Amino acid sequence: MKKPGKITKPSNKCIYNECDGSGMIHYRREDGTEAMTFCKCREQRQLLNSIKTARIPKEYHHKSLEDFNVNHYQSKDAIKHAKYAQKVASGFIKSFETMNDMGKGLYIYSKTKGTGKTLLSIIIIYELMMKYQINPLYISVVNILSELKCLWQTKNVVFGS
Ligand SMILES: [Zn+2]
Repeated sequence: MKKPGKITKPSNKCIYNECDGSGMIHYRREDGTEAMTFCKCREQRQLLNSIKTARIPKEYHHKSLEDFNVNHYQSKDAIKHAKYAQKVASGFIKSFETMNDMGKGLYIYSKTKGTGKTLLSIIIIYELMMKYQINPLYISVVNILSELKCLWQTKNVVFGS
């Protein structure tokens, strides 16, 4: 008779390394029957889903790096900076897997408002989604704290703690 225990092979696709990334765990009971149970990563994923890609403003949907038109900028300096930002973004997308393994991110910064930082960030998100079939998360820094606070409160309500 086969031993009871987990049948699902744990993978690093699951943040807890408990399931194969599907959110389900297949296991064998003491009496030899098989059953499925939810992995705790499901809850985590549902939380992320609620603040994920749906939050991207409509006007930014389906943009690609070609839509980042550096010639929109007025001054020579601005065009130079925009070209540089575009180049860095493109490099980040190409080497995303390596960067991600190393725990490295990309920080886009400008003193001036309306320089296209949001557009460029969202373009990077779309390119990453299409190229690597991953689900990145878009939150503007302004919203991050209230977002987390809100999730925390919801979580407490659900579990009554
Ligand atoms: Zn899991």
